[in-house]
Formats: sequence, C-alpha cells, structure tokens
Amino acid sequence: MTRRCAACHAITPSHDVNCCQNCGLQFHKPQFPSSSPNDKIGSFDRTPSKHKPKEHDKSSLAKHSNPSLSNNDNDAKSSIPCKYKSLCGEYLKSLSWNDALFDRRFNRCYCSNCYPNSLSNTLEEAGSLYVIPRGWCRFGLQVDKVRADVDHIWRNWIVTYHGTSSEAAHSIVAHRQFLIPGDKRIDGEKIAILPGHIKEKYHIYTSPTIAYSSVACYCPSSQFRSKITNKVYNARIVIQCRQKPGTFEVQQETIGAGHKRICPFIPNSQVEIFTTVRASIVPYGILIHLAEVS
Ligand SMILES: [Zn+2]
Ligand SMILES: [Zn+2]
Repeated sequence: MTRRCAACHAITPSHDVNCCQNCGLQFHKPQFPSSSPNDKIGSFDRTPSKHKPKEHDKSSLAKHSNPSLSNNDNDAKSSIPCKYKSLCGEYLKSLSWNDALFDRRFNRCYCSNCYPNSLSNTLEEAGSLYVIPRGWCRFGLQVDKVRADVDHIWRNWIVTYHGTSSEAAHSIVAHRQFLIPGDKRIDGEKIAILPGHIKEKYHIYTSPTIAYSSVACYCPSSQFRSKITNKVYNARIVIQCRQKPGTFEVQQETIGAGHKRICPFIPNSQVEIFTTVRASIVPYGILIHLAEVS
C-alpha cells in the first residue's frame, strides 16, 4: 500500500521514517490511521495525525475569527511562525473570502526558510512532473470528499497551477469549479468571451510549473499594504489543482517567449495544459506571492 506525505504527497517509503524525506514534514504516531483499504490513502492525505484538531486547538480555534488563515499549523520544521507566511495570511484575510472555503491542514509555506534549497525542486505525482512553488505560500482549500474518494485525486491526478486575478480565483473557489467563457456566474454575470475566440475552443488553461502560471498576462499583481510591516507589496495569486490525466492536452507556451526558457525544469514546449472538461480540475490550494515594493 502506497503511503504519502500529507504536505507534499510524496511517497513515504516505510513505516519507520518519522519525517517526509521529500519536504521534511514531521510525522507523529500513529501516522497511518486504520481504515478501510479504499480510503487509506485519502485518510492519510487529508487527516495526518499531526493536523487532527486536538482539544487545545479547538479552544484556540474558537477564539480566532479566521482559524483557516492562522499561523499555528504545519510548517514542517519549527514552531517559530514564518513572517512571510503571516504576511501572506494578512493579504488573504484582506480579501475577505469566507473562512469555510479553507482547510488549514493544507497550509504550507515554500519560502526559502520553510522550504530550504536542499529540498527537491520538482516532484512527480501520478507519473507527471510538477515544479515546487518556491517563494509562494499555500493556504489549503476544502476539497469535496466525494470527489477525492471516488476519483482518488490524491493518488491518480496530477498537480497543476492556474494563475489568475484574486477576483477570478475567488469565483472559481466559491463556485466549486472552473467556469468557461460563456458560462454565467452565480450573480448572473457572464464570463466574458474574448473577441476572436472560436466557440469550440473555450479552454481552461493550467501548467505543471508555477513559473508559467504566474506570468503577468495570466496572473496580474495587485498592491497591498501590510499593517504588520507598513510596507507595500505586489501580491499575486495562483490556484494549485489536481487534474485528471487523459482529459487535457499539452502544448507549447503561448505567450511569445520564443527561445527564452520560462522554467528551468519543464521545457517551453510542455508548459501549457488545456482542457474543456470543467470537472477534471479540482482546486486544493491558494498560493500567494508577495514582493516588496516599498
Ligand atoms: Zn512531504
Ligand atoms: Zn515561510
């Protein structure tokens, strides 16, 4: 039975290891809750014992208005809260998304302190390479358990990224699905069809590398002033997804990069994934990047 790390989903080789050899996440016993064979992987992925609410967690949760975004969760290495993660959390809070959208067990910071250079730059998931989002901080999203269990998304689906504006990201997460141009949002607004688009080509675009998903034309930055530091940052958002193999096509970049390599790990010829199958993409994390402006 394959066992996987709750944070990075890398395969965990044996019962005896006490931390993930990939990302350094500390395991606490009992690591692998006993359950029916069919949901072993799901249970382990989604409810590592370290992240199960303990009694004192519950009481502290009650005191916080926004528990999903608080900092006392699964930083792999230490109990010292990461300042970058706090800032990213402050930015996310400023967007006023509903707390119920988040699952803090999947929060994870990939700043250079929390995810050191010595750790792997890429991981393979469902036989497909993806690039670790170094410099970004993830806030875990609630994932539909039925989807996760029925489709075994943690085991069989690949990891992809989708860069977008904070408004569009909220729309995707709140609608519980990606929308395609021509769809109507829940408020009645139609998703714009770009001029010149061919009707059969309303695609959803993702990428195995955040270097491509986060380019400015997909992923605009907005300015944010932190009350913690009183500094201004350019903030960007990328959605981290699981995506079903066999439902999409892979193509070369379409941003006119030419010979300029976009990502050191994935060639330009394979950085863009497109699909028309809405249900084949499940968002599981909001990645935030802040760059200091002043
Ligand atoms: Zn790991
Ligand atoms: Zn960090």
